[in-house]
Amino acid sequence: MAEAFDVIVVGGGNAAFCAALAAQEQGAKVLMLEASSEDESGGNSRFTAGSVRVVYNGVDDIKTLVPDLTPQEIAETDFGTYTADQFFDDMARVTQNRADPDLVELLVTRSFDTFCWLRDKGIRFIPIYGRQAFKIDGKFKFWGGLTVESVGGGPGLIKMETEAARKRGIEIRYATRALSLLFDGVRVNGVRVRHDGAESDLHAKAVVLACGGFESNSEWRTRYLGPGWDLAKVRGTRFNTGDGIRMATDIGASTRGNWSGCHAVQWEMNAPEFGDLAVGDQFQKHSYPFCVLINATGKRFVDEGADFRNYTYAKYGRVVLEQPGQFAWQVFDAKVKHMQRDEYKIRQITKVTADTLEEFAKKLEGVNAEQFLKTIAEYNAAVKNDVPFNPNIKDGRRTVGLAIDKSNWANTIDTPPFEGYAVTCGITFTFGGLRINTDGEVLNTDYQPIRGLYAAGELVGGIFYFNYPGGSGLTSGAVFGKIAGTSAARAGHN
Ligand SMILES: Cc1cc2nc3c(=O)[nH]c(=O)nc-3n(C[C@H](O)[C@H](O)[C@H](O)COP(=O)(O)OP(=O)(O)OC[C@H]3O[C@@H](n4cnc5c(N)ncnc54)[C@H](O)[C@@H]3O)c2cc1C
Repeated sequence: MAEAFDVIVVGGGNAAFCAALAAQEQGAKVLMLEASSEDESGGNSRFTAGSVRVVYNGVDDIKTLVPDLTPQEIAETDFGTYTADQFFDDMARVTQNRADPDLVELLVTRSFDTFCWLRDKGIRFIPIYGRQAFKIDGKFKFWGGLTVESVGGGPGLIKMETEAARKRGIEIRYATRALSLLFDGVRVNGVRVRHDGAESDLHAKAVVLACGGFESNSEWRTRYLGPGWDLAKVRGTRFNTGDGIRMATDIGASTRGNWSGCHAVQWEMNAPEFGDLAVGDQFQKHSYPFCVLINATGKRFVDEGADFRNYTYAKYGRVVLEQPGQFAWQVFDAKVKHMQRDEYKIRQITKVTADTLEEFAKKLEGVNAEQFLKTIAEYNAAVKNDVPFNPNIKDGRRTVGLAIDKSNWANTIDTPPFEGYAVTCGITFTFGGLRINTDGEVLNTDYQPIRGLYAAGELVGGIFYFNYPGGSGLTSGAVFGKIAGTSAARAGHN
C-alpha cells in the first residue's frame, strides 16, 4: 500500500522543523524530506550563529526566553528593550518601506511567542555576550536589537530541533530530494522525490515548502540578481538551488518580492565555493565598522560606520562584489585590534601585517599602493578626534570633508602593527520567492490559495528588500514555519 502522510515538509532547516513541529502539534502525521545526507543536513540554519531577532520589553522577557540566566548576568547586563515598534521601524527602514505590512506584522508580533513555543519544545537560548554587547564600565550593553542566540549556535539549533522532532515521532528522510509537486489541478496531494537515484511519489494531504532560496544556484543568481553574482561565494549550504520556488511556479504559484536582491556579506576572499560546516559563519569579517575598507584602486568606497553592523552587513557584500576584481581589504591598526570579533582569529584567513604603512601598502595584494597611502593620509586628517569613541552607540566620531565620509567609530590608522584582511562577497540567501497569505498558503497567479500548498523560510517573497536586520532569517523561518505547519495540518482535516 502507498505510504500516506498528513503533512510533508520539504526541507530540513529551521523553517522546516518549525513547520513540522507545529503540524505534529495539531495531530498530523508528518514527514520531513531533506535533500542532503544527515551529515550535511540542516541547511543554512545550521551555518548560522543561531542569533534571533525577537521583540522583548525588558529583562523579564529575556528571563522567560532564557530561564537559566544567572543573577550575576542580570546584574552585569543592560539588556534594554527591543519593542515591537523598534522592530517595525527597523524593517521599514532597511527594506525602504517595501516589506509586505501583513507579513511584517506577523514577523514582529509573533516573534516572542514563537521563540517561547520553541523553548517549550526543548530549544534553549542564551544572551549573545561579546558580539552584540560590549562591556563598558563593568556593564554589558546590548545595542542592536539582537540579544539571544540558540545554545551551540546554528549546529546546536539544528541538533535540538532534530531531537525535538524525533521525540515527537516526526520522520526525517535524508538524501531525499523533492523534484515536483503532485497536483491534480485542484489541490496538491504529495511530492515526487528522488532517493538513491530512484524516483517515487509520496502522498500527503498537504505539503509545506521550506527548502530555501536559490542562492546556491549560480545560473539563477546570474539570471535574477544580475551579472557578477555567479562569482559570489555561497556562505551556507549547497542544496538551496531554488527547487521549492520552481516546483510551486510549475503548478501556477505567484512570485513576489525582491528577486534582484539578496543578503550578502563580506566574506574571506579565499573561502570555498560553498560553506564549510567546520568553519561555519567564521569566514565572515564583521568588525568592519572599526576599520577602513580599501579597493583595488587604493580608495575607500563605502561608509563603514553608516550604522551598527546589524543594519549594514547584509548589504555590504554586494558593494564589495561591485568593486574591481570583486575584493576589498579591511584595514585595522593596533588601537582597534581588540574590537575584532572571534572570526578574525581563524586559521583559514587571508591576512597581512606590517609595522609601517609603506611596508603594509606593498603587502596589500592587488591594491594601488601609492593611492592607498594617499587615502590613509587624507582619512587620518579628516577624523574628528575630539568626539569620544563608543562602540555601544552611534558615536558620531566621524570624518569630515571626504568624498565618502565615515559617519561613526572613525579612528586614525596610525598605530602599528597594521593588519589587512582580504574579503570578497559571500551570498547568504535570496530575497525573492513565493507569494503567501497570512495563513502561509501559497497563492496562484490569480492570488487564490493553491489548496494543500504552504511555504515558509527563505523561499517566501515580500519580506526582505535591499537589506535585512540581522537575526531576522531564523525569526522569519520560525514564525512562518509555525504558521504554515499549523495551517497545513488543519487543512488535512477539511
Ligand atoms: C553563514 C550564515 C550565517 C547566518 N547567520 C544567521 C543568524 O545568526 N541569524 C539568522 O537569523 N539568520 C542567519 N542566517 C540566515 C539563515 O540561515 C536563514 O535565513 C535561515 O536559516 C533560513 O531557514 P530555512 O529553513 O528557510 O532554510 P535552510 O535552513 O537553508 O533550509 C533549507 C533546507 O532545504 C533543503 N532542500 C533544498 N532543496 C531541497 C529539495 N529539493 N528537497 C528536499 N530538501 C531540500 C536544504 O538541504 C536545507 O536543509 C545565516 C546564514 C548563513 C549562510
